[in-house]
Amino acid sequence: MKRRQLTLILTLIVIIIAAITVVLTINIFTKDDGTTVDPQQDSQKESNDTLAPGSDVTSGTGTDTSDLDKETNNTNNETDNSDTDKDNSSDSGSGSSENAGSGISGTGDTETGSNPGNTASGSTAVPTSYKDFSLTSGMSAAQAYEYLDEFLDSKYSILINKQNKVGSDYAPSDLVLPQGCSYQMESTAAKALTDMLSAARQDGYSDLILYSGYRTYASQKNKFENRTQQYLNQGYSQQQAEEKAGEYLAPPGSSEHHTGLAADVCSSKIVNKYGYLDDSFDTTDEFKWLEQHCAEYGFILRYGKSAEDITGFLYEPWHYRYIGTDHAKACMALGITYEEYHSMLVKLRDEAKADANV
Ligand SMILES: [Zn+2]
Repeated sequence: MKRRQLTLILTLIVIIIAAITVVLTINIFTKDDGTTVDPQQDSQKESNDTLAPGSDVTSGTGTDTSDLDKETNNTNNETDNSDTDKDNSSDSGSGSSENAGSGISGTGDTETGSNPGNTASGSTAVPTSYKDFSLTSGMSAAQAYEYLDEFLDSKYSILINKQNKVGSDYAPSDLVLPQGCSYQMESTAAKALTDMLSAARQDGYSDLILYSGYRTYASQKNKFENRTQQYLNQGYSQQQAEEKAGEYLAPPGSSEHHTGLAADVCSSKIVNKYGYLDDSFDTTDEFKWLEQHCAEYGFILRYGKSAEDITGFLYEPWHYRYIGTDHAKACMALGITYEEYHSMLVKLRDEAKADANV
């Protein structure tokens, strides 16, 4: 009997709980005005809220959509803020880079001290005998003579400056356009230039361009006369005007550009900035690459810094002269001008000739 009563009580409790649940459920889905809301729509709203910003809202009421837009905008704002943060942090990052850049300038200054091919002070290392010269050491006198004489006899050794001019009839025989360039050069030098610019590009310096190669005697004469006239117009005497014009521009007959062996190579950044070839090219990474690698392709930096007294020309970080890889490497390593290098070779050849009795 007791067991039956307990079961009855439990059943009543279950019925009461069920009734309460039913009443509560009806209240939840009934608004104040008594209309019933579709529970599906509510769950749809929830799922819309979780859509990624910018996703299309295909269902839900207008109100829901505008809520979503607002939220999307909020999300965008947050993204903008984080972008701003990123910008700030990258700004400070580039600030550091600029500092690093200043450091590079410092390195540039250091490099100025050890400019290859630029100074006359490198003479301590200049060999006075073919026996001590890197290219002829170990050779017999006869071999050294033959080796040095072959180069000095070739067109690649020609020394041209204000004291050693060529005539108006001088012209190289085989001129071609280096690949992708607009100025002709002697064929071997052109090939070397093509290879050098290609290697520079591979190392990430695609900004280097050939700005001048072969020039005819007549074009050089025109250029020089025009420049001289500019100084005459400024009130200089004929002699003064020619001297000033000759600081950068070779008088006709004294320009290496006549030979097709000279190349003016510069960064287009510099030319676009100044409208001409400018000394500040030597502060660029492109110049540092050239200075380091030009000899591997047979070129020397011809008119070095602090070498004006010897070369007769102001510093030209853009002017490179082809003399072949062996001699270019030797000349750049000795850190002397081509005037000094050429003179040294003549002496060493004469010494070897005397020793060899040829
Ligand atoms: Zn030049």
